[in-house]
Amino acid sequence: MTELAIDIVRKHYASSDVLALKDLSFSVTSGKFVALVGPSGAGKTTILNSILGLDNDYQGDVLVNAQSLKEVDVHPAKIGCMFQEPRLMPWMTVEQNLELVLEGKSSDKQLIRKVLEQVELTERASSYPGHLSGGMQRRVALARAFAVNPNLLLMDEPFLSLDEPSADRLRQLLYTLWQELRPTVIFVTHNLREALALADEIIFLSASPGTVIRHFPIDIKRPQQLDHSAISELQERLLRENPEILSGLAEENDGGNINPTQEQYLQ
Ligand code: ADP
Ligand code: MG
Repeated sequence: MTELAIDIVRKHYASSDVLALKDLSFSVTSGKFVALVGPSGAGKTTILNSILGLDNDYQGDVLVNAQSLKEVDVHPAKIGCMFQEPRLMPWMTVEQNLELVLEGKSSDKQLIRKVLEQVELTERASSYPGHLSGGMQRRVALARAFAVNPNLLLMDEPFLSLDEPSADRLRQLLYTLWQELRPTVIFVTHNLREALALADEIIFLSASPGTVIRHFPIDIKRPQQLDHSAISELQERLLRENPEILSGLAEENDGGNINPTQEQYLQ
């Protein structure tokens, strides 16, 4: 059980003099899969760092299970993470990379075996990351995120720059593992279709300084392939009814041509 209540009035980075977040407020109920979608620089990674408790330097509060992260010594949630790069230790085998997150608790080795089996890497348990394909390395990173049996899973554009078949396979695996273990998920992505294919809810952020422009519930069968008609229809409806979702990109738009950031949304 992990619920979140984020209420960041102001997050300013002194070193770059950037106001990253302003009046950002949303809550997430336990066990939900929430996608965070917004343009580059909207403050998505900043939000994840505050939920991780890595950065408490903001005006406002982040509550995890009703406890303020500014007031706790130990984070209230058991967290699994996955980032843009797999971040595996190259000198450790697949299995050792997973054991690393267990902090020596041998009782959890069974879970490692299970998640490795689920991501179809049992036979590569003794391989080194350098000997694996990019897609396999991401599967190891996904397995590692679940190896702690997290109740909060934070994912920062985890399938970026993967070829579509590999990304699709990872989405299926993520969905299966999530259904089984049911952590609360915050999944950051640029890709609106990816968000529609996976999430229970999408939180749309404005351009910098980031604030919530729409909290959108989704109700379609999941997970779907990104080119599925249900996703296209939902995407069209969403953009028609909520043109403000793309408003953060308006300034970048040169005379009606779709700019690269919009293309990313519309993939
Ligand atoms: P996103 O993940 O949505 O692309 P970020 O949270 O990384 O956005 O960044 C939001 C803004 O804050 C950007 O303008 C970025 O340059 C700035 N920023 C992010 N991290 C730092 C930092 N550690 N120090 C200074 N400025 C930062
Ligand atoms: Mg980021």
